[in-house]
Amino acid sequence: MCGVVGNWRVELIEAHRDLFQPPADFPGAAQGSPECDAGWRDVLDRLCIRIRAIIQADGGSFKFSQIKEKYGTLRVYWDGALSPDADARVEQAIALAEARSAVTCEVCGEEGRLREGAWLTTRCEAHSEGRPSVQHRSGLENIYMVRHFVEGRRFVTCRRYDRQNDVFVDVDPTSLGIEE
Ligand SMILES: [Zn+2]
Repeated sequence: MCGVVGNWRVELIEAHRDLFQPPADFPGAAQGSPECDAGWRDVLDRLCIRIRAIIQADGGSFKFSQIKEKYGTLRVYWDGALSPDADARVEQAIALAEARSAVTCEVCGEEGRLREGAWLTTRCEAHSEGRPSVQHRSGLENIYMVRHFVEGRRFVTCRRYDRQNDVFVDVDPTSLGIEE
């Protein structure tokens, strides 16, 4: 099996050379080559397609600087120069990818859950190796808090990640019993 490990990364980078900007003769050496398992390939593919659409519409420069797993979910970092609007849309695309990784098995890409163990992982039942899933307070699964600062005032909005449609849906914080 050793010979094929890493091929999905090279294929992903080859498919999105504009965003990875790998060395011409060695795509696997791209700075942003994913440091995660193959189950998140589709998450990254969706992210690349979204980012490309933003940059094609808005111009600017973009390059992944690091893609890795941390605490069981995806972390994505990039370098470049985009307009404030494009920057915000790229960050939104990255937030979607990170939220999707939190409910997608890192091994196989099926629906998964964050699991406790020696370290946090996101796995489906079949790849859980018996590790229990992290218990969220009922109703707070896939809920993300977003902090905003407008004219020096801080406020919080809530959104839920909808895996089926791969979108965030705004949620009224008071309906979740969350106090600001
Ligand atoms: Zn799995």
